[in-house]
Amino acid sequence: MDLKTLIRNIPDFPKPGIMFRDITTLLNNAEGLRYTIDSLTEKCLELDLKPDHIVGMESRGFLFGVPLAYQLNVGFIPVRKPGKLPAAVHTIKYDLEYGTDKLEIHQDAVAAHHKVLIVDDLIATGGTAKATADLLQKIGCEVLGFAFIIELVDLKGRRQLPDLPIISLVQY
Ligand code: IMP
Repeated sequence: MDLKTLIRNIPDFPKPGIMFRDITTLLNNAEGLRYTIDSLTEKCLELDLKPDHIVGMESRGFLFGVPLAYQLNVGFIPVRKPGKLPAAVHTIKYDLEYGTDKLEIHQDAVAAHHKVLIVDDLIATGGTAKATADLLQKIGCEVLGFAFIIELVDLKGRRQLPDLPIISLVQY
């Protein structure tokens, strides 16, 4: 199945010059959704990735991370923007093109030495995925790899990430 036919391209969103890859049209397609989750699952099995948890980033990482966790029979842990998680959190601050941002994870969600797979809808510059990996490594977790639906290859996000397996289903 050609997933690109199900991903909608929106020019100049959220600002002029950006081509936004919209996965809502993929989620809305029953066959496309099933194929996407099945493909992610197969690739994890092929790579023999055996995480204890899937970690997904707000918010579109949740949409793919939860069904993948279900398929792999492991739990799902959300990483969120500051102030959204209700219990005690670990926080990481990271650099954006202009300024900084933060990501948070519940302190009791994961323990040192747990093996995790990081999932998001899309990798662009790699900043979000790298910050998430840094946060988990700071806690003492073992990051096994990364899985994305979409990779924006020209932005070279892979180069930001540690030398681990990186799954991407569609490349632009
Ligand atoms: P990065 O940190 O530059 O790799 O950006 C990745 C993050 O930005 C992910 O959490 C994506 O959800 C979001 N993102 C960036 N561009 C797009 C897009 O075209 N479509 C959907 N999400 C995007």
